[in-house]
Amino acid sequence: MLALRIRAPHALALEELPDPEPGPDEVLVEVQAAGICGTDLEVLRGVHEAYRTGRGSFPITPGHEWSGVVRAVGSRVTRFAPGDLVTGETGLGCLRCEVCLMGRHSICPNLVETGIFNRDGAMRQLHLHPEVFTHSAAGLSPLQAAAAEPTAVALHACRRGRVGVGDTLAVLGCGPIGLLTIQVARACGASAVLATSRSRPKLDKALELGADRVVNVAAEDVRAAAEDFTGGEG
Ligand SMILES: [Zn+2]
Ligand SMILES: [Zn+2]
Repeated sequence: MLALRIRAPHALALEELPDPEPGPDEVLVEVQAAGICGTDLEVLRGVHEAYRTGRGSFPITPGHEWSGVVRAVGSRVTRFAPGDLVTGETGLGCLRCEVCLMGRHSICPNLVETGIFNRDGAMRQLHLHPEVFTHSAAGLSPLQAAAAEPTAVALHACRRGRVGVGDTLAVLGCGPIGLLTIQVARACGASAVLATSRSRPKLDKALELGADRVVNVAAEDVRAAAEDFTGGEG
């Protein structure tokens, strides 16, 4: 199979590697889509925290926003079968330590992160993922399924912010996460969304995806715009 490899900072190569075989608890998927995230660029430049601290090592195959069709499953896998469209979590905890047993596996001290450090990601034709961190994407398109990971970031932000019916909120920045947050906030019932960016195309996209008012921070004062938007409440 072909795999994208980051061999060292700024050293990216497409390599021919042996097709991987699933371990007993893994699924083997034929990758359908893999998104590029700012984190991938940090890894490529060698400035990601895991590499600066020596926790992660090269080479690595990037790709943590992905979807794929199951081609084979390990001997102990029960939840998936060939043909299933799936996606998967990025942070893979050990599931044995105290932190994991409390249900906080994304901050496990033994954490590896798919496509980020110490676990190959999905920018390859065939990707391996642990069954326990794999999720069905039935009913989604492969592109939608590949956006599940960044959408989960937006959902987490809305949950942390307790966004609910009738709420007014500001989304600062209209990169992919900001644009997803606008949509998730709308789905949570937010009734008024202000979004900021210094990019006109991103502001246009924000309006298209559910923002009511956009503020170009290169030309407008955010505080004044927010006060105007909220009738003086700010
Ligand atoms: Zn990411
Ligand atoms: Zn753990």
